[in-house]
Amino acid sequence: MHTPVTIIGAGLGGLTLARVLHVHGIPATVYEAEASPAARTQGGMLDIHDYNGQLAIEAAGLMDEFRGLILEGREAMRILDQDGAVLFEKADDGTGGRPEVQRAELRRMLLDSLPAGAVRWGHKVTSARALGDGHHEVTLADGGTVTTSLLVGADGAWSRVRPLLSTATPEYTGTSFVEFYLFDADTRHPAAAKAVGGGSLMAPAQGKEIHAHRESGDTLHTYVMLTRSQDWFAAIDFTDAATATARIAREFAGWAPELTALITDGDTEPVLRPHYALPIGHRWDRVPGVTLVGDAAHLSAPNGEGANLAMYDGAELGKALAAHPGDIETALTEYEQAMFPRAVEAATDDTHIREQLFGDDVPQGLIDMFTDHE
Ligand SMILES: Cc1cc2nc3c(=O)[nH]c(=O)nc-3n(C[C@H](O)[C@H](O)[C@H](O)COP(=O)(O)OP(=O)(O)OC[C@H]3O[C@@H](n4cnc5c(N)ncnc54)[C@H](O)[C@@H]3O)c2cc1C
Repeated sequence: MHTPVTIIGAGLGGLTLARVLHVHGIPATVYEAEASPAARTQGGMLDIHDYNGQLAIEAAGLMDEFRGLILEGREAMRILDQDGAVLFEKADDGTGGRPEVQRAELRRMLLDSLPAGAVRWGHKVTSARALGDGHHEVTLADGGTVTTSLLVGADGAWSRVRPLLSTATPEYTGTSFVEFYLFDADTRHPAAAKAVGGGSLMAPAQGKEIHAHRESGDTLHTYVMLTRSQDWFAAIDFTDAATATARIAREFAGWAPELTALITDGDTEPVLRPHYALPIGHRWDRVPGVTLVGDAAHLSAPNGEGANLAMYDGAELGKALAAHPGDIETALTEYEQAMFPRAVEAATDDTHIREQLFGDDVPQGLIDMFTDHE
């Protein structure tokens, strides 16, 4: 099989690229490992920023559809101390520039905007190799192969395309999330629901934080952030939900009950999500016929930018290819030269955020960060 533009991965980056190409009349095929759009729950809410994610959606011609997905009021945020006292609060007045949407709905919006058959589900790529003259061959888990004159790795943290460009691999950042969900929170978990309020809650302390979002309906999504080694987490048996939950809650012993309830009242099993990152400044020399977007190119610890940047990369690459018909190398050069510094800037901001969160003066550092941005 030969497809001219071959995108590996139907995440937000790959789908935005496919959509922007489609808007410009350029066909592309997306190969996705998962069996269907519903194969895996897509995670929680994403705030989509007016300086990157929303620009990508505009380039994709999907602003009206996007507005229909926005969860009103979810930009409200509050910072609590460990006794539950509100230290900082910000209402959602609709001018925040970071509306929240459910990730699954955003992905569905992009999928629905593509021609039928553009995404080949259940096609896991195992490797890719150069054939010369900018052509590549991709091998699939079922043994099939695809050749292409433009290969784009949009396949996330553990990209199978990245080895064509660089030897870098993600490393553990020292921090992990443990996630919990509380359903029907206003009636079943009222104290926790009240603590979270209408949008998001942060309760930070040195090396740890309880972070929670009010998602659609009255579902609360808790992200417990802990700076601990991978060995520390490995000693917890996450297949034993009750014991694992109790072990994580123990890290917050003495905290206000409405905060620890965001852990102990979880209606789902705790899910461990270790954070990995590529080196800041990860880049490569131009290799004809292949590039990367999103986490495949610049995975960093969650800083609220990853999905936004992935979409922005996809849109920028799509626009560059449309602007240079028949000249893939000029388009890829233009895209990469802008993408490399953009990724560094976001990762540097991330370092700043982490210093605020885990520095000596928690949570004042975090409050200062929000008030500085007013
Ligand atoms: C817990 C958590 C919370 C986050 N919160 C936010 C947030 O609030 N805001 C934000 O902007 N970012 C957030 N991020 C970061 C964000 O999720 C990522 O940066 C973003 O999803 C990257 O998009 P992507 O398209 O590059 O990759 P991905 O979303 O990882 O998509 C890659 C796709 O490729 C597929 N794939 C992988 N390997 C193969 C293969 N070998 N063959 C075929 N297909 C393959 C995968 O199945 C997947 O569909 C968060 C991340 C985590 C872990």
